[in-house]
Amino acid sequence: MKSMYWRSLLLLLVCGCLLFPTVANSQTTQTPQPTSSATAESTVPQTVPPDYHLSPEQMRRSIALYRTENVLLVIGTVYSIIILIAVIVFRFAPWLAAWAEGISRHRFVQAILFLPPLLLLLDVLNLPISIYGHHISLVYGLSVQGWGSWFWDWTKGEVIGLVLGTLLIWLMYAVIRRSPQRWWFYFWLCTLPIILFVVFLQPVLLDPIFNKFEPLEKTNPELVTQLEKVVHRGGLVIPPSRMFLMKASEKVTTYNAYVTGIGATKRVVVWDTTARDMTIPETMFVFGHEMGHYVLNHVYKGLAFFAVMMLIALWLGRKVTLWALARWGERWKVTDLGAWASLPVLLLILSVFSFFGQPIGNAFSRYIEHQADIYGLEITHGLVPHSSQNAALAFQKLGEKSFAYPYPNRWLVIWTYSHPDISSRYHFALDYKPWDEGKPNEFVK
Ligand SMILES: [Zn+2]
Repeated sequence: MKSMYWRSLLLLLVCGCLLFPTVANSQTTQTPQPTSSATAESTVPQTVPPDYHLSPEQMRRSIALYRTENVLLVIGTVYSIIILIAVIVFRFAPWLAAWAEGISRHRFVQAILFLPPLLLLLDVLNLPISIYGHHISLVYGLSVQGWGSWFWDWTKGEVIGLVLGTLLIWLMYAVIRRSPQRWWFYFWLCTLPIILFVVFLQPVLLDPIFNKFEPLEKTNPELVTQLEKVVHRGGLVIPPSRMFLMKASEKVTTYNAYVTGIGATKRVVVWDTTARDMTIPETMFVFGHEMGHYVLNHVYKGLAFFAVMMLIALWLGRKVTLWALARWGERWKVTDLGAWASLPVLLLILSVFSFFGQPIGNAFSRYIEHQADIYGLEITHGLVPHSSQNAALAFQKLGEKSFAYPYPNRWLVIWTYSHPDISSRYHFALDYKPWDEGKPNEFVK
């Protein structure tokens, strides 16, 4: 669970599929070495180590980071639940709602008076966890973003979140009051076009608020030429105008690339850190993975999956909230689900659902990530010398840069990993060779 609760409702403004969780980073050893692509292309070795491997020093850091992140995950989850329980038990929402209702009889004005303070309070109370998370990223060198810039990003995120959250929750209560029995379905229907619209606008409206984007053609023309070979091999059209470079190096040291947007805004984004530190063949594999997401319509599939999860959560959320209000409502000073004051109860229940829904969502995510890995391996085969080894080396770099722990607990992977663990991906890259076994490719014919 993340600090912003309203996200359990609209969670998925963020649908971009990350190649690698951004949590990772490194302050280490390597000074960024500009790789000349000419040498890069000829240096993919025929043999690479059989396993993803870290030096003893990297391993020491990787274990420490793995432990810290797990502790932070548990504490963050429990803490966010405790905050909601405290807000409910201390009856903050009934008090705030009474104040808002005393000022205006208009529901929308009440929403503006009631929702932003409540949502902001929850986020501010959760801030220490986020601050500690960023502190860890700085300590491990995963992030180079100063505190001023970090707080400015947090503030911008809050403003966007509060505006969107207020509109959405206002709409939800309007529907609850009009149809107490079936609101969960009608509200769900209302959110579908809104979510589609937000995902559509995200790359052009929201993302540029936090990061700078430039056409990849302008910054890395040679890379675009190589990437077009990959695109061409897939028999596809991703015009260079849909390839962007994100200036991630101002904030992080880790690597990433992702596909975002839908329809006219659909695009591939490569972080400048990736383009800077990886060889062109490695970047081609990373891009091939992203292209897999692009061609296999993973953004649409992700949205459809999320929509189904949300429908179940709202249906069940209504039932459980009604039960909780019937049981403890007197004590909490809120007995009516249609009253503003019921929001923390509903958020608490949706937060618990989102925690238990995490393994389902992550299983789906790992599945499509694996498909994208297969696609990346197939599309680069024949284009890049020793394509399997090249892909394994790309995973090695990704893992080292973020101190990815090679042996994560199986249950932790099931519950929290959006991507298969790095050791598995490394092995799969070396093992997947349908072309040697006379079998057809799965995606790239
Ligand atoms: Zn991916």
